[in-house]
Amino acid sequence: MQTIVFISYNGAYGFNSGWYGQKVFISANYYETGDAEETDEEKYSGVMYKIPGQYYWGNVPIENVERYYIYSGGKRVFGEAISLAKSVSKESGKPTTIVTCRCDWEEKECLIRGTGIQLVFCECGGRMFFGKIIREILRES
Ligand SMILES: [Zn+2]
Repeated sequence: MQTIVFISYNGAYGFNSGWYGQKVFISANYYETGDAEETDEEKYSGVMYKIPGQYYWGNVPIENVERYYIYSGGKRVFGEAISLAKSVSKESGKPTTIVTCRCDWEEKECLIRGTGIQLVFCECGGRMFFGKIIREILRES
């Protein structure tokens, strides 16, 4: 069974971080409150730095990964989310999708251009979108 990995410094509505069968692995934060404001940039930056650590320390062996979804919001932290997506994509060779809102879009587009990383638009925060695609994947599996 191949695993689809979801990474977000926000949450995925209806899900906590962890395994859902072997099909889905979620590394996300702030589901508990669900409505963390995107104002505390230091906090988000810190979370974003921890998430690659989890990835690299092997919660999901790369060879078992089918695809990565990585959320990138607005403000300063999106650069970190996009560089995480780039390194995940490059190191794993697996399909990687950035899930993003349209805030700061021109700056994001500059960072993504030429990387071959796929892009899907979502609402600000991405929680509902993540929750929805995770539910659909679990329903199909
Ligand atoms: Zn936004």
